[in-house]
Amino acid sequence: MTTISSSRPPIIKQADDVKRKKVIICGGGLAGLSAAKMLLDSGFEVELLEGRAILGGKASSWRDSDGDWIESGLHVFFGAYEEIFKLMREVGIYENILWKEHALTYTLDKGERFAFRTASLPSPFHLLPAVFGQKYFTLPQTLTLARAMPSIVFGSERYYKEQDKITYEEWHLQHGISHKMLKKMFLPMALALKFLPPEELSAKVVLDVSGIFLREDAASRMGFLNGSPQEKLIGPLAQAITSAGGTIRTDAKVRALLPKANAPTRELDGVRLENGEVIRGDYYLLALPVHKLNRLIPQDWYATYQYFQRLSQFEGVPVMTVQLWLDRQVTGIDNILFCPDGLIPVYADLGNTTPDYSYGGRSRMEFVVAPARGIFDWDDQAIIDRVWSDMKRVFPQTTAGATIVKSSLVRIPQSVYWPKPGLDILRPTQQSPINNLFLAGGYTQQKFYDSMEGAVSSGRLAARALVNTVRESSYS
Ligand SMILES: Cc1cc2nc3c(=O)[nH]c(=O)nc-3n(C[C@H](O)[C@H](O)[C@H](O)COP(=O)(O)OP(=O)(O)OC[C@H]3O[C@@H](n4cnc5c(N)ncnc54)[C@H](O)[C@@H]3O)c2cc1C
Repeated sequence: MTTISSSRPPIIKQADDVKRKKVIICGGGLAGLSAAKMLLDSGFEVELLEGRAILGGKASSWRDSDGDWIESGLHVFFGAYEEIFKLMREVGIYENILWKEHALTYTLDKGERFAFRTASLPSPFHLLPAVFGQKYFTLPQTLTLARAMPSIVFGSERYYKEQDKITYEEWHLQHGISHKMLKKMFLPMALALKFLPPEELSAKVVLDVSGIFLREDAASRMGFLNGSPQEKLIGPLAQAITSAGGTIRTDAKVRALLPKANAPTRELDGVRLENGEVIRGDYYLLALPVHKLNRLIPQDWYATYQYFQRLSQFEGVPVMTVQLWLDRQVTGIDNILFCPDGLIPVYADLGNTTPDYSYGGRSRMEFVVAPARGIFDWDDQAIIDRVWSDMKRVFPQTTAGATIVKSSLVRIPQSVYWPKPGLDILRPTQQSPINNLFLAGGYTQQKFYDSMEGAVSSGRLAARALVNTVRESSYS
């Protein structure tokens, strides 16, 4: 087992009621790390247990035997994010984000393109030049979208919630928006957001995201880290945690939750690791993927609480990430790219977007491969061949004669949770019915779903709920 710790004492910034209270955090993704940072800043003692040898979860990255970084997935930041930016500023790493031109470029067969470029106008007018300035959709097609926009921009909270009953495809067609826009514009957007097509996603997800993009002028602008997530985000966060006196243990997989026997109220007494070791604290914060959490919930809790029963309806979406190192520059583009056809809905040339990944002026591509369900069992070479043939369709001229120098493939059988219709109301609060137990992760309630922002928001909400519980119990 690897232990990373520092001998420095925790920073006690707040009241004595949290002093010497120990919190065990399970899961070293962005949710767990952000909760750990906030709890340390609030004066708690923190021990974080991560099952894998590396931190970062779905945002993790590692070096291969050549020393090249392999990423779990292509990660971009949206201008709309808030909590993750606060956290990055606290740690002094916000400057690691490189903001790109505010444009969404769609790449099509035979090298055809269309792009949405926003203008410096107050929202929602900033998107009008983007919508009407492109030439790919006809004016009548564009007007079908323009007519539906007020429902998105001015919809009440209740209206958005009600749209969780149907899929995005149903919502789109009910509003008479052009079929071509569904297939060419919203399909890659849905696949980029949740790795699923519009007919499998709650309408609420797409409307929530579109609403934010329409209401806030810089919300849809995207940024990339200037290097690997490990060096530019996860590592510095872990460093901040250990510098504040927290302990991080990797290769520390939690195998069982141990409820307190004969307690007047239900409480957790400890967690058992794979090696049999039992770790105890005063409070517990589980920042695990929901499908992993489901395997750990004690039977008695399932039987007693709807809160836990509901979690059994959550599952993760399969996705794959392919990286290709090419022998030449083929895109010349320093931004995110979308593709509505084939299996590469969203991708980027990291050789251009990410200075630490520059590859001698040559292209270093990273693709989200989705929908992945039907091809998950294909062998690696078949998937890489398929990605390369998609790439050749969208960049036919520059890829002619180009060769792949090296490739990598990462498979994630259950990645972000699947926001299917009807599920939103079942998302749990961070405060659980167990007195000393809190949950964090993209599937818990917050408005950014399963994203880096959603994970960080959930971690910070869980930490706040924990602090409030301790305060309330010390005043009562
Ligand atoms: C391919 C891909 C692309 C993405 N692109 C973007 C993007 O562009 N922008 C964006 O904002 N978001 C993106 N996301 C989503 C983002 O990565 C996640 O929402 C976020 O990282 C989730 O963080 P988390 O802490 O909630 O969960 P996780 O990252 O899953 O962390 C959970 C941690 O718990 C650990 N764990 C599991 N079981 C145990 C156990 N029994 N004991 C101890 N530890 C355990 C895991 O190893 C993991 O480290 C992407 C995700 C993927 C997969």
